[in-house]
Amino acid sequence: MKPLGLFDAAYLRLTAWYVAIIMAISLAFSIWVYNQAANELRFGLQQSDSIIFRTPAQAYIEERLDVTRQRLIGNLVLLNVVVLIAGAGASYLLARRTMQPIVDALDAQERFTADASHELRTPLAAMKTEIEVGLRDGKITKDEAIELLKSNLEEVDRLGSLAEGLLTLTQTGDAPLELKPVSLEEVVGAMVKRMQPLADAKKVTIKKDLQPVIVQANEPALEKIIGILLDNAIKYSPEKSVVTVKTYPKDGHSVLEVQDRGVGIKATELPHIFDRFYRADTSRTKQAISGHGLGLSIAQKLATQMQTKITANSTTGKGSVFKLRLY
Ligand code: ADP
Repeated sequence: MKPLGLFDAAYLRLTAWYVAIIMAISLAFSIWVYNQAANELRFGLQQSDSIIFRTPAQAYIEERLDVTRQRLIGNLVLLNVVVLIAGAGASYLLARRTMQPIVDALDAQERFTADASHELRTPLAAMKTEIEVGLRDGKITKDEAIELLKSNLEEVDRLGSLAEGLLTLTQTGDAPLELKPVSLEEVVGAMVKRMQPLADAKKVTIKKDLQPVIVQANEPALEKIIGILLDNAIKYSPEKSVVTVKTYPKDGHSVLEVQDRGVGIKATELPHIFDRFYRADTSRTKQAISGHGLGLSIAQKLATQMQTKITANSTTGKGSVFKLRLY
């Protein structure tokens, strides 16, 4: 027999508590009904007792009262059995419903841990193999040793960025963030400046088309979102291409738009890019494009905390557009 899981035992325990409460109420009600009825019957009997000699009719009444009492007990027992069976079924269903959010949260936690471990294993395995090969040789030259250390350093960087991403994801709760009036084009301008070295390394030009708009936003979260969108736009663009950042008002709200002319995202993959650890085929196969599939899920989480969301449009081979709507 399969041993009872953590939740099976909890379902049963919760069901037992619900049933105990239902049965306590049902039994108390039955005892009250019985007492009420018994009092009525006793009263009827006392009326007939007032006569000294019992007539056959009174003896018959007494007998009938006894039968009625027995039937009442039988009915109350039956009622309690029905309440017990129906109550147990309903309680089990209710226990499952009560526990469902906890089960879902634990499932998500397990999936997250499994995905995170998987992501951690890959760079560690790469480092281990390189070190083993280097040691096996015995006659490793200085240049080879430097190469090996450089490669290991890249993996350490990967691990560092993964740890940072995981920390950001787990540290940012779901509570709404405090919003203040922010000059969107100023924040975007500052972020573009910060990302410039990354763009320069790939000879990517960042074009700015910024209309002055004031939005309600949480500045650190907004900076993080812009950083992630720009980083992706540069990362998934070929060398010497152009990334355009726009801010503009539209239909009573404001938009931040990041457009690239890079690899693009397949329509089938587009709905998943905001999922944790999701990486589209294009980025998985190309070793040069580093990442763990955490950036967009962090960005979307922050957007949700600012009561808005990021949307994406893309054409494979032509590029992608990410938009953040702000108020
Ligand atoms: P990462 O970039 O670390 O893989 P993200 O969560 O930032 O993780 O992105 C998830 C996936 O979405 C990426 O792996 C990539 O396949 C796709 N993606 C994100 N931004 C772009 C973009 N600008 N162009 C093409 N693909 C993108």
